[in-house]
Amino acid sequence: MGYNVAVDGPAGAGKSTIAKLVAKKKGYIYVDTGAMYRGLAIHFLKKGIDPDDKDAVAEACDDADVKIGYENGIQQVWLNGENITSMLRTEEVGNMASKTSAIPAVREKLLELQRSLARNEDVIMDGRDIGTNILPNADVKIYLTASVETRAKRRYDELREKGEECSLEDISRDIQERDERDMNRETAPLKKAEDAILVDSSDMTIQEVVDTICSYCK
Ligand code: C5P
Repeated sequence: MGYNVAVDGPAGAGKSTIAKLVAKKKGYIYVDTGAMYRGLAIHFLKKGIDPDDKDAVAEACDDADVKIGYENGIQQVWLNGENITSMLRTEEVGNMASKTSAIPAVREKLLELQRSLARNEDVIMDGRDIGTNILPNADVKIYLTASVETRAKRRYDELREKGEECSLEDISRDIQERDERDMNRETAPLKKAEDAILVDSSDMTIQEVVDTICSYCK
């Protein structure tokens, strides 16, 4: 079993930025599980599937082959042999992922992929149910959160930097809808594991968050 650090929290809390930096500092592999849900979401979008049609989504999982690999330490996602890494982080894909990730067949599809990565390597894995469901015996569990305003502003800046047109109000509404879906779904909802350390990054710098998390890790 590798050394496992689980980082869960709501959309826009800074999980991926922080986890990447901790991974670099500690020599772990950074596993972005949101990217796997986004990879499947691209499959559903390509097939024109309605995310509310649970049976159609479950059936479409059968012909989706999601693979994860690393190039220069950066996670790459393949969908049915095509490298789709550069297509993952749009609002359309994020929304599809948020809706379809509530469907048990989708979670089932990715569970073993996530556990096998953690079995074989020292990882810091971020997501929504890593500490509660995927890696209940993780060596360190972090629940990273921040206020809705802070998270919306971060997502807005991230999208603008990539040249995408967006409005802060739309993003804020989107984030609240995602929180609602992630926290209230029946299968593996987002919640803090009892033994997770709560880190609220609203008023912390990136470096402060990284140092805090590193102080709990081997
Ligand atoms: O973190 P990210 O925004 O990339 O995740 C995309 C979507 O995938 C989230 O909105 C969430 O609903 C879902 N997800 C999940 N469980 C995970 C990781 C992501 O349900 N472990």
